[in-house]
Amino acid sequence: MPLPGPGGKQSFIIIPVGQEVAIGHGMAKQVEETEKILDDTVWQNYLNQIGQKIAAVSDRKDIKYHFKVIDSDQINAFATPGGYIYFYTGLLKEMDNEAELAAVMAHEISHVVARHGIKRMQAALGVQVAYELVFGAEGASNAVNSAIGVGMGLTFAGYSRNNERESDSFGMHYMVKAGYNPQGAVSMFQKLAELGGDGQSIYEQLVSSHPDTQERISKAKARVAEQTPLPKSLTLGTKKYQQMKSRLK
Ligand SMILES: [Zn+2]
Repeated sequence: MPLPGPGGKQSFIIIPVGQEVAIGHGMAKQVEETEKILDDTVWQNYLNQIGQKIAAVSDRKDIKYHFKVIDSDQINAFATPGGYIYFYTGLLKEMDNEAELAAVMAHEISHVVARHGIKRMQAALGVQVAYELVFGAEGASNAVNSAIGVGMGLTFAGYSRNNERESDSFGMHYMVKAGYNPQGAVSMFQKLAELGGDGQSIYEQLVSSHPDTQERISKAKARVAEQTPLPKSLTLGTKKYQQMKSRLK
């Protein structure tokens, strides 16, 4: 069943959307059993508001998106299949404006829009489980549970380089569409490259000193250059972000 992806690109997915959401929900439950959700409704609402704004201009509106802040020093953010997206306070503290947050947010939403997670899972599940997910009853618990297990176990795998490039590219498109200055993506990618990393992060290897990070910075710079002069309406949102950041101390 071909489904629309970013920019109307069609992707071949066999696991139905209902099952994808059930798997994502199960993974989100496990994440929230092991990680501490930040006890600050102002921050949770702020993250949700930015997330919903970007999701609304994305190419995927057949699911409900969920956004939460995790209280942990890890410098990371990730998305499960089906639209459950998490940001760590360790990453939020490294950011200096809302456009930088929007850059990572739009990147994560793009992984969901393009169904990178569910495709990776589909490839890892094996025929039997995939078959049950496709032809079994909606929410067939055994198959969904196996898929949740596989999803949690894919932590070491990361996304392919092509998936990352695709999410960077559509992410920049979405953040601008939502009204953010794309310069936020350039400064964010530079920061993530400087922070380096051991490559052991779960779901996403946002922080990495890999040579690919230099490529993503040049690509982001090129995208900004293409759009220069940038419309004055595009915001960095520095003042608001600094206010929010002071709450994280
Ligand atoms: Zn990514």
